[in-house]
Amino acid sequence: MPGETVLAAPGAAARARSLTKAYGKGETTVLALDAVDVDIERGRFTAVMGPSGSGKSTLMHCLAGLDTVSAGQVWLGSTEITGLRERELTRLRRDRVGFVFQSFNLLPTLTAAENISLPMNIAGRRPDPDWWDHVVDTLGLRDRLRHRPSQLSGGQQQRVACARALVSRPELIFADEPTGNLDSRAGAEVLSLLRSAVDELAQTVVMVSHDPGAAAHADQVLFLGDGRVTDRLSEPTAESVWERMRSFAAPRTD
Ligand code: ADP
Repeated sequence: MPGETVLAAPGAAARARSLTKAYGKGETTVLALDAVDVDIERGRFTAVMGPSGSGKSTLMHCLAGLDTVSAGQVWLGSTEITGLRERELTRLRRDRVGFVFQSFNLLPTLTAAENISLPMNIAGRRPDPDWWDHVVDTLGLRDRLRHRPSQLSGGQQQRVACARALVSRPELIFADEPTGNLDSRAGAEVLSLLRSAVDELAQTVVMVSHDPGAAAHADQVLFLGDGRVTDRLSEPTAESVWERMRSFAAPRTD
């Protein structure tokens, strides 16, 4: 399709054009995303920030094909995912996207190793042994592989969840507040791990966060407000992110 060739630049791991998502109908409609244009650069770490209710999770879900859109288009790599049937979408997510959630989402009865390979097993694929070793060693999980989640700390559990996302070599990893349930040390560990997934394992990471310190690990920050991209920041530091957030603070009306 000629339009696809033009719009889906090779550098974008994902992109959205005029992405609109409304919840509800009539007077109770909530416009969670209002004609959003974004490009997620391949091989880079992008943080998505914004106040609660600004549309961060909705954007992530729409980019990942976890939610339908009301209008607009979304591409994963060069594949337009808007309009795909649920079955195709499920396969595409399984093969090309990795997820890390705030709540780890590990299965308690499986060992760390079994949790890591579960999505690939379900897909009937086998992890590449060299890549598996590389991921497990990079994430420092070698001596934890036989443990069950209850025998691991929060930080270790999140590392297992990161390994699970990485081991299938997805085109894109989405992390939704991955440090939200971790103490600051374990959080820092997971952030530097996502950083090394980009730097050492050449992955693309999109992380939703409301923590400027977390966003400072990214290469670029997208700021959302009321369902729109309000700003972008390259090479962020915690200070520059704070500064930018302060400048968005709504002026007092009283
Ligand atoms: P954030 O992740 O930035 O907190 P969300 O993407 O969760 O924001 O939500 C954006 C807006 O959409 C909010 O106003 C929220 O209340 C609304 N919203 C999100 N999910 C639903 C839903 N399933 N039904 C109705 N409204 C929703």
